[in-house]
Amino acid sequence: MHFARFNPIRFAHLPTPFEPLPGLTEHLARPGGGGPAVWVKRDDCTGLAGGGNKTRKLEFLLGDALANDADTLVTQGAIQSNHVRQTAAAAAKFGMKCEIVLEARTGSNAVDYNRSGNVLLDELLGATLRTVPGGTDMSLELAKVAAQVADAGGRPYVIPGGGSNAIGALGYAECAFELVAQANELGLEIDRIVTATGSAGTHAGLVAGLAVMGADIPVLGIGVRAPKKAQEANVFKLAVETAALLGHAERVTRDMVVADCDYVGTGYGLIDQAVIEALKLAARTDGILLDPVYSGKAMKGLIALSNAGAFDGETVVFLHTGGAQGLFGYQTELEGKL
Ligand SMILES: *Cc1c(COP(=O)(O)O)cnc(C)c1O
Repeated sequence: MHFARFNPIRFAHLPTPFEPLPGLTEHLARPGGGGPAVWVKRDDCTGLAGGGNKTRKLEFLLGDALANDADTLVTQGAIQSNHVRQTAAAAAKFGMKCEIVLEARTGSNAVDYNRSGNVLLDELLGATLRTVPGGTDMSLELAKVAAQVADAGGRPYVIPGGGSNAIGALGYAECAFELVAQANELGLEIDRIVTATGSAGTHAGLVAGLAVMGADIPVLGIGVRAPKKAQEANVFKLAVETAALLGHAERVTRDMVVADCDYVGTGYGLIDQAVIEALKLAARTDGILLDPVYSGKAMKGLIALSNAGAFDGETVVFLHTGGAQGLFGYQTELEGKL
C-alpha cells in the first residue's frame, strides 16, 4: 500500500517494538495448556513527548495541515487527553500554535486530575487550554475556536477528537502493515489483535489496513466509553472511509468490526478495582506501564476474556496505545490501592 501518496510528515519512532510478554503469558496460563501467548505492539513508544497512538495519526494529519498552509492546530479531548498532549507536541515541533478545548467529561474535581498528568504537559508544550463542562457539543466548540483563530488572522486546522477521521486513521492502516511485516519476519502467526477502542480511529485504521492487505487477522476492540452497537457502527463507518482512501472500500465488511464494551465499568475515565488490578499485573509481570482510561481498561478486558477461555491456544497481540502520562492525573484515586 502506497502511504507516501498521502504526504505524511515523518516524526514518529517507527517501527515500534513488537515483543512477547512472557510474564503475563505465564500468569494467564490455564490448566490443560489453555490461555493465550500474549505479545505487545509498543505504540506507547512512538516517541513524541511520551508517545502513544495519536502520533501515527498526527503524521498524516500534520501532512494535511501543512499542505493546507495552516499555522494553528485546533483540537479537543477529555481533560486527561493523551491526544491533546501529542497534538500540542506536534504543533510545537512544527512551529505552529495549538488551541485546545478540554471537556470536563468525568466531573472530577481532584487537583491532580485537573492540573497534573497530561494537563501539566500540555501547558509545558505551550498549548492554549480552555475547559468546557461535560456534555458540551465539542464539534461546535472546535468550530467556534477555529473561527476565532481565523478572525485574528490565523490559519486554523481542526483535528477532531482523538484525531479520528479517515486521514488520521491511515496511521493505523499503516500500523497494520508494519505489524504484519514484523510477524512475518519472526515467523509468528497472529490469531488476534486486542486494542482499546474510543474515538475509533485506531480500531478502524487497523481493520481497514488488515482488510486491504487481506491479512485475515481479527481485531477485538475493548470499548472505553460508548455501548457496543454505537461503537461498532462508528468503527465500521470510519474503517470503510479509510479503506476508501486506500482505494478498496469494498474490502471492509461489517463482520470484521467487533467491539466488546462490557469493561467500561461506571463510565469513561472512571476506574474500578479490575482496572487497578490490570495496571498492577502488566507492571509487575513484564514492567509495562498502562494507563487508567484506555490501555488499562483494554487489559482488564483481555484478562477477563482470557480467564473465561476466549483466547485458549491463541497468539494474541495487545496493541499498547500508551497513556501512562495520565497515571499522574489519577494519583488521588490510585493512592493506597497499589
Ligand atoms: C486515544 C487513546 C486510545 C483510543 O484510541 P482511539 O483511536 O481514540 O479509539 C487508546 N489508548 C490511549 C492511551 C489513547 O490515548
